[in-house]
Amino acid sequence: MTTATETVLAGLDDLRADLEDLYRHLHAHPELSHAEHETADLVADRLSDLGFEVHTGIGGTGVVGLLRNGEGPAVLLRADMDALPVREETGLEHASRVTVSIDGTETPVMHACGHDVHVTSLVGAATLLAGARQAWRGTLVAIFQPAEEAGDGARTMVDDGLAELVGPVDVALAQHVLAFPSGQVRTRSGAVLSAADSLRITVHGRGAHGSMPQAAVDPVVLAAMIVIHLQTVVSREIAPTVPAVLTVGSIRAGSKSNVIGDHAVLEVNVRTYDEQTRATVLAAIRRIVIAECQAAGSEKDPEFEPYDEFPPTVNDPDVTERVVSAFADTFGDDAGELDLQSASEDFSDLPTALAIPYTYWGIGGIDPEQYRTAEAAGRVSQDIPTNHSPHFAPVIQPTLDTGVRALVAAAMAWLARD
Ligand code: ZN
Ligand code: ZN
Repeated sequence: MTTATETVLAGLDDLRADLEDLYRHLHAHPELSHAEHETADLVADRLSDLGFEVHTGIGGTGVVGLLRNGEGPAVLLRADMDALPVREETGLEHASRVTVSIDGTETPVMHACGHDVHVTSLVGAATLLAGARQAWRGTLVAIFQPAEEAGDGARTMVDDGLAELVGPVDVALAQHVLAFPSGQVRTRSGAVLSAADSLRITVHGRGAHGSMPQAAVDPVVLAAMIVIHLQTVVSREIAPTVPAVLTVGSIRAGSKSNVIGDHAVLEVNVRTYDEQTRATVLAAIRRIVIAECQAAGSEKDPEFEPYDEFPPTVNDPDVTERVVSAFADTFGDDAGELDLQSASEDFSDLPTALAIPYTYWGIGGIDPEQYRTAEAAGRVSQDIPTNHSPHFAPVIQPTLDTGVRALVAAAMAWLARD
């Protein structure tokens, strides 16, 4: 570890109890995407107290903190703030009991993805860096982002003028707590998270009596042909070495056995790891749907409605190498390689808009003993709750320490004074 990084991290012992309290508070008070008001107020107050230039309400509830510390590189650290509509079943003392009313329905809310770990870790790193300004130079840009789960939180911040607000930035860094042993940090160069695209497709038939198919264009048969034909996109159009997933998660058509309906709605989800494959798959879906509609004699063009779009996350090799080396110094054997993840994130929308390189890594959240036991029994998938599970409960330590140390070590790879 460089002396400068050690100097910054020396403050962690005194900060630990405060961060643990902050984490428990955030965990007990989760807020849904685009409604992260109290979380945003809380982090904005913290940043102000630390001497950051603070901008609130960026893209709704986003918070941007700038700490200028002389000439030098500018490093962006990002934490997402939102929780999920999940009823917490962890049984923890600090478990969420929060519900919110959505269209008259009481909806439970839980930090089931662990974004409370991210917020706490970034507050911790910002506090340590603000308290040890002699050890570094440059600008620290702390971003607390809304609505990662909705896929549009980063974009709303970008659309709200983020680039002008932060000025030139050299690199963007972000992390996620994942279901592997706490205390570990894992990195990966190149593709790390998939792009996700959801499409709602409406195809049109002609309705008629169930006994008179000659008068109909049957949307049920049309939808079925489309589902079958879509199975050829990944298997026949994408190289076997390139990962891609195409799932038809929903078909809705018709109302009863003796009525031929007049339309069908299919919902399709696509996961890819690079923009070229993504474009190929999305174009193939359109081509097949349009052709099947023509083959069926459909008299009206199909409608395509994209939603929940997430960009791919592809870690820059040079940036990742620098972070890998910083993690090796700080974490030793607890730093390892991250598997390719099938989940998606909108973090990369920030560096893409700023035209800067980035890397994104995982920190473990599972009690190492519990993980070892599950692994020994060959039951990791069954026994270890993953993100979004109502049972997902990262152990507070060493998870928070790891999150703070990882952010500081990575940022200092650019900011450290020699
Ligand atoms: Zn999530
Ligand atoms: Zn998440």
